[in-house]
Amino acid sequence: MNRLIVVSNRLPFALDSTGEDLWTVTPAAGGLVSAVEPVLRERGGTWIGWPGTAGEIPKAPFAEATRNAGYKVVPVALTETDRDEFYYGYSNEVIWPLFHDLQNFCNFEPGYWQTYKAVNDRFADAIARCAQANDFIWIHDYHLMYVGQALRERGVSQKLSGLTFFLHIPFPPYDIFSKLPQQQRLLRALLQFDLLGFQTRRDVRNFLGCVRRVMSDARVVPRRDLQLLRFEGRQIRLGHFPIGIDFDSFERGAISDAVTRRSQELRARFQDCQLILGVDRLDYSKGIPERLRAYRDALERHPELRGHVVLIQVVVPSRVEIPRYHEFKQRIDRLVGDINGHFSTSNWLPVQYHFRGLDREDLTAHYRGCDIAFVTPLKDGMNLVAKEYCACRINEDGALILSQFAGAAEQLKTGALLVNPYDVEEMADAVLKAFRMTTAERTARMKRMRRVVRQENVFRWVDSFLKVGAKLTVGSSKPRTRTKL
Ligand code: UDP
Repeated sequence: MNRLIVVSNRLPFALDSTGEDLWTVTPAAGGLVSAVEPVLRERGGTWIGWPGTAGEIPKAPFAEATRNAGYKVVPVALTETDRDEFYYGYSNEVIWPLFHDLQNFCNFEPGYWQTYKAVNDRFADAIARCAQANDFIWIHDYHLMYVGQALRERGVSQKLSGLTFFLHIPFPPYDIFSKLPQQQRLLRALLQFDLLGFQTRRDVRNFLGCVRRVMSDARVVPRRDLQLLRFEGRQIRLGHFPIGIDFDSFERGAISDAVTRRSQELRARFQDCQLILGVDRLDYSKGIPERLRAYRDALERHPELRGHVVLIQVVVPSRVEIPRYHEFKQRIDRLVGDINGHFSTSNWLPVQYHFRGLDREDLTAHYRGCDIAFVTPLKDGMNLVAKEYCACRINEDGALILSQFAGAAEQLKTGALLVNPYDVEEMADAVLKAFRMTTAERTARMKRMRRVVRQENVFRWVDSFLKVGAKLTVGSSKPRTRTKL
């Protein structure tokens, strides 16, 4: 088995300064960490990334944080300027909004690109320092799209057994991608990888559409499953690998006594009401204002809902140091206040709003205790919340209202009520439909969704990606073995 080197912008933990020489270590949450960490723990390897603090990396706290990891952890340091121009700048003011089809949120500041490249170069240097012959390199996400090219420039790629990349966020269609000033340079950089993984078929299609329009010297060889591209004498494989969750662990959590008790307490607080759950990071791509407007519209047009539904909206603080995110929070606060001010009665408050993260047990209790999940991102690479909700519905009930623009819709469309997150009236009607849905229909739909989420879980995601990666031939135009892909 080849050695695995995982590279992501953030490491599976964050170091935080709490005073002179005082540091806290916080484990990172989210799909990437929960998927990849067990694999590295089991087979060993190396994780390269930024520990989340600008400036020099404190040696002792870093060593302490990584002592029992079970794999090697290599930090990449970022200065404050790097953080501002690479992380907040190019990654989160250019790529993030553009790839979520929100071009009006982009700040195409020309200087950001140079810093993005320079930081990607630094990640490549870190890889070059620790890579050995036949290592398998797996690079993650939109912060590091230039690393493949940087490695080729360093001549490192020739000795590797695989140079692969997975994009966790969506890839936009050409009409949107073409706004990017560095469109050609970015595609050229991505084509330096040997395997490119995307979340959905739509992302693969969009990527190929952009390659066809922008890179005249790339040739797409259509295939039924894994696509093939020929570029500068090399072969690049492309496929969709929808990220999953650890289904069993969520299901086990939902069955536990502690979660059963907490979900019963939650239900007892809102008797005679169906509970609707929204859980999102504070991000404009999540469609929170549109959802609140839809909920308001539902209460306005369908009076039977009043006094019989409660929306529990959890917003997890994220990037609040950025002014745009702060303004966005104020907008949500106003919308919640407006709904509660307008519709509440002496014994009913239509929106329960929490601006904080929930721990795993509390989150699971919410999934288990709420009758309807309201998941309506304007665009989302996958959306794990939708899958976690299904995994926690151990009684095979519960309705899911899901944005057609979430990656998860491709897998869950047979059970979810799909909506256009920009269509407030359609979402309001979906609330009514979910509210009135019979138990039999809820069960039939939930069974179908749970089957998919259980089968296409996170371990399968890692396995399928690594399996394809293991068949790669790096840096040559002909496959070493004639594997049928
Ligand atoms: N999450 C959490 N605490 C919370 C809310 C969410 O740990 O209070 C986790 C949730 O379990 C999920 C992740 O955050 O795994 C959110 O992933 P998703 O794909 O839905 O959206 P992202 O935030 O990655 O864009």
